[in-house]
Amino acid sequence: PISISDPIEEHRICVCVRKRPLNRQELLKKECDVVTVPSKYVLMVHEPKQKVDLTKYLETQTFRFDFSFDETSSNEMVYRFTARPLVETIFEGGKATCFAYGQTGSGKTHTMGGDFSGRTQNASKGIYAFASQDVFLLLNQPRYRSQNLEVYVTFFEIYNGKVFDLLNKKAKLRVLEDGKQQVQVVGLQEKPVGCAEDVIRMITTGSACRTSGQTFANASSSRSHACFQIILRRRGQMIGKFSLVDLAGNERGADTSSADRQTRMEGAEINKSLLALKECIRALGQNKSHTPFRESKLTQVLRDSFIGANSRTCMIAMISPGMSSCEYTLNTLRYADRVK
Ligand code: ADP
Ligand code: MG
Repeated sequence: PISISDPIEEHRICVCVRKRPLNRQELLKKECDVVTVPSKYVLMVHEPKQKVDLTKYLETQTFRFDFSFDETSSNEMVYRFTARPLVETIFEGGKATCFAYGQTGSGKTHTMGGDFSGRTQNASKGIYAFASQDVFLLLNQPRYRSQNLEVYVTFFEIYNGKVFDLLNKKAKLRVLEDGKQQVQVVGLQEKPVGCAEDVIRMITTGSACRTSGQTFANASSSRSHACFQIILRRRGQMIGKFSLVDLAGNERGADTSSADRQTRMEGAEINKSLLALKECIRALGQNKSHTPFRESKLTQVLRDSFIGANSRTCMIAMISPGMSSCEYTLNTLRYADRVK
């Protein structure tokens, strides 16, 4: 018999929050920090009730998550408690997913991709790199070394419901679903990788591709979901897959009232995909037989990760601490709260 507190069931879904430090502009504007993380699990947002005297009219909202990371936490620390516990899953024949959710500028790309742009002096690793590193560590352990496993990576972007290959010059790809509900991204390049350094090269190539050809690089990347996958195969057969997703900025879902038709359409698409994602994760957590994956391209492409007994997922909700982001921070926390 399965007990109520079966550990596998309990850890199928993990929802965490990461608060970034106030940035230079926020400090210059003397913005106050409205988020406090009093414990590993609890996070509080001090919302001004009226925009007059900030100290007098604060209303504190408290949220509880599997983990809450304050502004002093490093990418490595966040990785250790979020994606790290899912790495074994893919060696055991399962599917794992990790999502970075939040407002533009809250730290999604910093956390997932790190920074390999070459603009900063020290390249810093994110979850893509740490997870890949651990995949190779495990692969070389005695219990897996004899299994002849091969590692591949893919890196693609979903923009306005269309899929583009970031490891193949943004080639536009078709998504096909066969009669057996198997979803396939036709022509998506799976690059073989032999070590963690190979993976870093792929992350660098893909990240550069993501922001290329756009005058307002961040404006466009904030409207797309980026998905980096680590795939384990044995003689061509897929053993497991880890999908790490840097989601579109959730504030873009509110662009539905924009004057610009294109922006409105993109906003509607983002909204739809983030809602569908929430429902798919909830379905996975509650062991529901119906997963509404067809509602968006994002969930359709990740379909096989939302079903199956050995699927696990983690969501990291990123938040900006400044007063001016308060409304979006609360939106983000409420969304994360619903996913649990
Ligand atoms: P997003 O992808 O959510 O739009 P970014 O990851 O691009 O946001 O982060 C915006 C800026 O804030 C970047 O310059 C990034 O380096 C910085 N940043 C984000 N999170 C942190 C953090 N935890 N510590 C230090 N800087 C951060
Ligand atoms: Mg980003």
